[in-house]
Formats: sequence, structure tokens, C-alpha cells
Amino acid sequence: MSDTIAAIATASGVSSISIIRLSGSDARVIARHVAPKATFRPRYSDLTSLYNRSDEMIDHALVVYFQNPQSFTGEDIVEFQCHGGIVVAQEILDTVMYYGARLAEPGEFSKRAFLNGKIDLSEAEAIAKLIEAKSTDAAKILARQLKGELGRFVEEGREALLKALAYSEVMIDYAEEEMPEDILTQLLAQLEALSETLTRIVESSRRRRGLIEGFRVAIIGKPNVGKSSLLNALLSYDRAIVSEIAGTTRDTIEEQVRIGTHVIRLIDTAGIRDASDQIERIGVARSMSSVAEADVVIALFDGSSVYEDEDQKIIEILQQNRDKELIVTLNKSDLELRFDRSILERYTPIEISAKYQFEKLTKVLESRLNCIGESDDLMLISARQIEAVEQCAREIDRAKTPLSQGELEFFSYHLQEAVKYLSTITRPYESEEILDKMFGEFCLGK
Ligand code: GDP
Repeated sequence: MSDTIAAIATASGVSSISIIRLSGSDARVIARHVAPKATFRPRYSDLTSLYNRSDEMIDHALVVYFQNPQSFTGEDIVEFQCHGGIVVAQEILDTVMYYGARLAEPGEFSKRAFLNGKIDLSEAEAIAKLIEAKSTDAAKILARQLKGELGRFVEEGREALLKALAYSEVMIDYAEEEMPEDILTQLLAQLEALSETLTRIVESSRRRRGLIEGFRVAIIGKPNVGKSSLLNALLSYDRAIVSEIAGTTRDTIEEQVRIGTHVIRLIDTAGIRDASDQIERIGVARSMSSVAEADVVIALFDGSSVYEDEDQKIIEILQQNRDKELIVTLNKSDLELRFDRSILERYTPIEISAKYQFEKLTKVLESRLNCIGESDDLMLISARQIEAVEQCAREIDRAKTPLSQGELEFFSYHLQEAVKYLSTITRPYESEEILDKMFGEFCLGK
């Protein structure tokens, strides 16, 4: 018997409908007080009148009943799909709480789904990330994870490791000469292949992190090259999504802009100019740190003025960050070209005018973002998953030396550790505390 929890599952504010979710053994009994005429036939929706605790009718809306175990949480669930806004939804929530439901903790529905074996941890994480996904590609990746793709990969990896472990146990128990000769070489090759796959998945997941969180794009350049103009141009390029997130440092502002299928986080370092006498030092330091965090760097040079020392500083930053996606841009193409293009030739600069014509830049940016995001590899979607796979790969590597030296007990030990780490992705052995921490990051009603 679990207590019955309730929450408004939709975002608060003006909307056409709101959903209130109720889960637990008393869900139906409690819901009957709100919707006395509903049939509560499993998986059917009733259009019916809803009442508050004073028996006043407050809405005419849909009620859906999911009977355990065929529900998201594995418990009895009742959903009210009432008219939007906060008043009706809040009234329904108050009523179900009056009749015995308890307000759910953030993520508690998903936690129950996990505890009742309806989803594994990788699927729970995919649900949480899907809500915040910053690109269509991310939604696709998360949907695949939601369907158990990562879970299946973990199972396959576990099986390969357990097979190696079984061989090892047999070899420990029986004399070595009874085993086929090349068994060691085969085992070693299999483990090496597995750890290579794991390492590749970690790297490509890190690189594509921006699909979920939003790729970070930094605009750098000496004062007056047109950074703010470009930023404003990009912002008005798609007015639909413009928001400000106060950054970690006092005057760094992050803006969100949609480019193609991505919502990117533009890192603005335009405040540099106001730093009066310390312009250079502060400016370069600020550019350096925004570059360090960025997936893509747009370096701006002023095409209408001749090359100077300050431009050299930007080139140095580019040289130190060759591993990143760099887009080198000569701005102010509407004016006469005075900048020596050959200095930037190795970066194949594109010419734009932040003021009048910058579409070429958005096209290049979009194709670079698509490039970073492109991969057929499985994607790990959280720091927790990445750490688990890294630790697993590390243990496999540690197992190789004892295997080649015939120290099979040590070999087995490291393989067991590897299995343990890999398993944490879907089903950790850890305590309630870790689960609480993880599910606590969910939205209310999820
Ligand atoms: P920041 O210091 O790099 O942020 O540069 P700003 O965006 O403030 O631009 C500096 C000056 O260059 C302003 O007077 C802008 O109007 C001008 N500017 C920026 N982009 C262009 C452009 O494409 N063409 C022309 N003609 N002027 C530009």
C-alpha cells in the first residue's frame, strides 16, 4: 500500500488545458469525490462534471483512469484534464488533498515508476531531459533512450563482461592446460573492443551535450568589430525565442536563439568595452573563458580596418582552440575591404555585414551545429551515465594486465567492478538517498 500522491502536471499559467495527476492505492476512491459520475473504466476517458470539496461544480472536463499495474507508475492513476489556467487545476488539487492525497515531491511519479519496475534509470533520465531538450535531434535521441535503447546496450555489455568472468572462473577452477590455447588472446581482444566502444561513446556524448543543453556559441573579437551588432542581428533573426539568462559572471549574458533545429546559447562578451583602462587585459581574459566553455567560436574581425595587434590576440586564441568549431568572420562587408585576408586564409573566413547581411553566417553556423550533433553512436545523456561508462572502461583496462599475467583472481575482481559500474546506468544498488537526489531534480508532476 502506498500513499496517494497528487500534483498539477502541466506548467502553471494560461493554457487551454491543465492536467492533475493522482497516483496511489486510493487514487480512484479520492477521485470519485471530484468526479462522482465518472465510470472509471480503465483507459477510457469520461467527460464529466467536477466538484470541489464544497460540492460546487467547478468544471466539466475529462477524467482518465489507469488501473495498476498498467499505468506510468505501476499504481492506480487518475488524471483530470480540466480547463486551463491555475484556478480550476488548483481547486481540483486542493480537493483531492482534502480527501486524503498528499502533494507529490518533484519527480515522485517517476520515482514510483522506477521502484515499481516500470522504467529503468536511463529511461527516467530521458524523461527528465526530454522536457528541457534544446534541439529536435535531442528529442529523437531521448525518445530512443525512452524506448530502452541504452538499457539494451547496458545489458549487452553486461553479458559480454559476465561471459569473460565465467571463463575466468572456469580457468581458476581447472588447470590451464585443459583450456583452448587462444582463449586468453580472444578474451583480451573482446575486452579491448568493448572498452574502445565505451570510450568512443563517452567522447561523442560529451561533444554532443549541446543537443540537450543547447550548444554554447561564443562571439569574440576586439572592441568595435561588431560583436553586439551581430548578437542583436542574430536575436532579431528569430524573435520567437529570446530570453536572458544571467550568466555565472557579473556581466556575461547568455541569450537563447534558434538556429535551424537547435536552440543555441549565445555567449555575449560585449560588455568588455566598458572596462575603460583595463580593456585589453579584461577583454582577452573574458574572451578566453567564454571560448573555454564554448562548442562553437565565432571570431569577428573588422574587414573595413587594417590588421592590428589586437587582432593578433584573437588569432592566438584561435590557435589555442583548434579542437573547437571555429567560424572566422570578416565583418562590415558593406564597407571597403582593408583587412589583409591572407592573414586569416587558413581559417577560410566568411564575409558578412552584421548590420545588413549576415545570413551566410547563420547558414555556416547551422551546418557546423549539425556536424557536431551528427553521430550514429548511442548517446549518454547525463554526467551520471558518462561517469558510469568511464569507470566501467577504466576497470576493463585495469583487468587487462592481470589477465595477460595469468592473475585471474585480480582479473575477475576488475571485471566484477566493471559490471557494477555499467549496471548503475539502469539499476543502481545504491541507497534511497541517491534515488531521492536524482528524482528530486525532476519537475513536479513527473
Ligand atoms: P563591439 O564592440 O564588437 O560589440 O561592436 P559594436 O557592435 O558595438 O559595433 C561597433 C561599431 O561598428 C558600431 O558603430 C556599429 O554600428 C558598427 N558596425 C557593426 N557592424 C557593422 C557592419 O556590418 N557594417 C557597418 N558599416 N558598421 C557596422
